[in-house]
Amino acid sequence: RVKERGKAHYQFYRTDMNSVFTNIVTLETHLRKAIDKAELSLFYQPQVDIATGEVSSFEALLRWNDREFGRISPSVFIPLAEDTGLIISIGHWVIENACKQIKCWNDKGYRDIHVAINISQKQFQHPNLVQFIQSMIEKYNIKASSLGIEITEGAMHDTKETIPILKKMKELGISISVDDFGTGYSSLNYIKQFPINILKIDQSFIRDILIDEKDAAITSTIIHLGKSLGLEVVAEGVECIEQVEFLSNAKCHKIQGFYYSKPLPADEIEQKFLLEKCLKES
Ligand code: C2E
Ligand code: MG
Ligand code: MG
Ligand code: MG
Repeated sequence: RVKERGKAHYQFYRTDMNSVFTNIVTLETHLRKAIDKAELSLFYQPQVDIATGEVSSFEALLRWNDREFGRISPSVFIPLAEDTGLIISIGHWVIENACKQIKCWNDKGYRDIHVAINISQKQFQHPNLVQFIQSMIEKYNIKASSLGIEITEGAMHDTKETIPILKKMKELGISISVDDFGTGYSSLNYIKQFPINILKIDQSFIRDILIDEKDAAITSTIIHLGKSLGLEVVAEGVECIEQVEFLSNAKCHKIQGFYYSKPLPADEIEQKFLLEKCLKES
């Protein structure tokens, strides 16, 4: 698969020296050590209820700060992790640390927290996924309903394999989001068959929502479709007030994007969103 995608896929610029780094093997070697060297962290991006302005859900987004190469984007290292199989141990790290964070927030009195983690295709196909998630929920003594997973349409195409896994997760109480909705294949068929809770409209549709009639029409249609099927609809990549107004008029449930907040470390999330919420409630 590495070959298929081509070397250029892994090219990125070293921010410090502005020189091109193309050595996949070196990058892989570094990624292998990233967990032990504590170079990984989770950032959290809030999802806002458009009608109430309330924030109770966050998407966990993985960050890698390599000592030598600096910050490397997930769009570079996640595909590499998938191709090398490293995604399994990295994915376990993400699941455990998201659960640990939920526990930490619960202990501080933030009870109705919901955190969604991204699960890529390879992880989803790994036989122990549900068991591992369940063991972490138990280890940290959190409610399964405080956890969600985000999977793309690509991870869902094999119906026979996918439905039982999703059903098990749903039985546990974990919410299931379809990420980047509208960019994959066979959307309508699996939307009918799969036990999902949330549709996340891909940011490529939101980007030009104000200038491209087709994007506007697709977005409105996805919102309508999701609502008709009893699903929650979240718009990703919302960057300006005009997009918020459009989505509000179209009765989209939630928005996520730089307009409201970029992904932030847990302590900043606490300062900016949870503290205030707690004060409001008391
Ligand atoms: P995604 O799950 O679709 O995540 C949304 C991406 O959009 C994130 O990029 C986020 O930082 C970015 N974003 C959020 N708001 C805005 C906005 O208003 N404008 C724009 N232009 N972008 C916005 P990020 O963090 O670089 O992650 C990229 C992708 O890497 C994710 O896409 C997801 O597919 C993958 N990823 C990230 N963390 C993990 C992880 O822990 N595990 C796995 N398997 N994949 C991950
Ligand atoms: Mg996502
Ligand atoms: Mg997405
Ligand atoms: Mg994506």
